[in-house]
Amino acid sequence: MNIKGIAASNGIAIAKAFRLIDPDLTVSKQSVSDTQAEIEKYQAAVATTIKELEIIKERALTTLGEHEAQVFDAHINMVNDPELTSQTLDKVKGESVNAAHAFDEVSNTFVMMFESMDNEYFRERAADIKDIKKRVLAHLLGVKINDPSKINEQVVVIAEDLTPSDTAQLDRNFVKGFATNIGGRTSHSAIMARSLEIPAVVGTKTILEDVKDGDVLILDGLEGNVIVNPSPEQISHYEGIAQKYADQKAEWAKLKNEPTVTKDGKHVELAANIGTPGDVEGVLNNGGEGVGLYRTEFLYMGRSNFPTEDEQFEAYKTVLESMGDKPVVVRTLDIGGDKELDYLKLPHEMNPFLGYRAIRLCLDDKDLFRTQLRALLRASVYGKLRIMFPMIATLNEFRDAKALLLEEQAKLEAQGIKISDDIQVGMMVEIPAAAILADQFAKEVDFFSIGTNDLIQYSMAADRMNEKVSYLYQPYNPSILRLVKMTIDAAHKEGKWAGMCGEMAGDQTAIPLLLGLGLDEFSMSATSILPARSLLAKLSQEEMSKLAAEALNKSTVEEVIELVEAIQK
Ligand code: PEP
Ligand code: MG
Repeated sequence: MNIKGIAASNGIAIAKAFRLIDPDLTVSKQSVSDTQAEIEKYQAAVATTIKELEIIKERALTTLGEHEAQVFDAHINMVNDPELTSQTLDKVKGESVNAAHAFDEVSNTFVMMFESMDNEYFRERAADIKDIKKRVLAHLLGVKINDPSKINEQVVVIAEDLTPSDTAQLDRNFVKGFATNIGGRTSHSAIMARSLEIPAVVGTKTILEDVKDGDVLILDGLEGNVIVNPSPEQISHYEGIAQKYADQKAEWAKLKNEPTVTKDGKHVELAANIGTPGDVEGVLNNGGEGVGLYRTEFLYMGRSNFPTEDEQFEAYKTVLESMGDKPVVVRTLDIGGDKELDYLKLPHEMNPFLGYRAIRLCLDDKDLFRTQLRALLRASVYGKLRIMFPMIATLNEFRDAKALLLEEQAKLEAQGIKISDDIQVGMMVEIPAAAILADQFAKEVDFFSIGTNDLIQYSMAADRMNEKVSYLYQPYNPSILRLVKMTIDAAHKEGKWAGMCGEMAGDQTAIPLLLGLGLDEFSMSATSILPARSLLAKLSQEEMSKLAAEALNKSTVEEVIELVEAIQK
């Protein structure tokens, strides 16, 4: 049998299945007279859960690293969340019910709230709440929960979903990979599998039903397949693929400390996209030459009020210091569209992607913007800072944003605060109007970074969140290539650099074209860096510029793909 899922972490694993099944945590509603006893029970369950999470966190620190261990800090905060606690205790007192029932209901409301959000990041935080809910409920009900750390033979773990704490307890010596019924590429289990570098397939929908304990599985994390009880021929076929992949990874690893140079000696920069300071570790481990996009909105998300200037300063300083003399492009707040903040009540809009978001909001709510700019300026002395404004459509927007930056700089300097004299100020090119007028923008910016995720959405008029129109996400369409070319050419004409931080920059089919178009900096997820460096070393800039010129004159995306595939044969 062949089960299809989403390829979440690369690699092949062949081993027996181990089903990790959740314990029965069914809760019944009971009337209680001694509500104080229930409150104490709840407080004890919370205290035990926190102790347990502290232990798992310590373990994660040694097996997974600092960044992944932070997830458990977030869990500890969630268990302690004042809203969760007060709503649970109010329910116990107000309705005279057992703590398990009250907590079950309140935490379900939280899960539902997160699951209903438009934003994928928040939807996946619902999994974190389910994780802590399971622990607290198990303690309240006196039920033992599964302990994946007890696994002591080579297995592929099968589960409905793996919570972050399950994943942290997996021993790499025994757990060769895992497959789950639910989840996507950006769910925590998938992110952790990639940092553990164990193969994973998620979102199979049915694997837990289809597979028995002890079935032999081939887990193909490269293609997102699971083969149940394979034939000897299938096993040897996949052993071959596993060996090839291991050889390829060993080759990539050799490039970690190498510069990125093409066959004919052209140097380009490979940088990484990050969302939190914790991501820097992965950038350096994967040989990143800089941060090409720090999405600062994550600092504002998952909390109940705006981060203060000092909190922001600490985050920016940490990233700049950790990156040392490597450049860090920090994008100012890009909220709105699909990214919402609970505490910033924005009016409901018919077309949020075309609405009040990013720089539009920041230029309107200037206090909010000035706070971020001051934090950035103060942090600038700790590294090589580049500041980038998102969603710029007109030159006046860029000028206004830059004027506010200079105003804050002058104020800080008047207070005797030191600011770096090497801050570049650039913009995202993600609205077609900016690409078309790039020659004018190029006179005033220090750099461009092309945001293809949005540039393609706006050029094709195709909502990037809507699966029905996802076929229009066509990075190699000649229309998009022409906009990219206009932007790069305009930058070069003014002696400025042009980068790209949309997903397209790390795409193996796009890379030859982008090299040919003269892109200077490619910013991508950290794990794409070494494969990209390896590919670029095999390409000649001169040949790729001919390839790009040909691609620009094609009529369809299929013709462009054919052209690129021909050189890769
Ligand atoms: C983009 O639009 O390409 C981009 C990099 O920004 P985001 O995905 O955060 O909108
Ligand atoms: Mg964007």
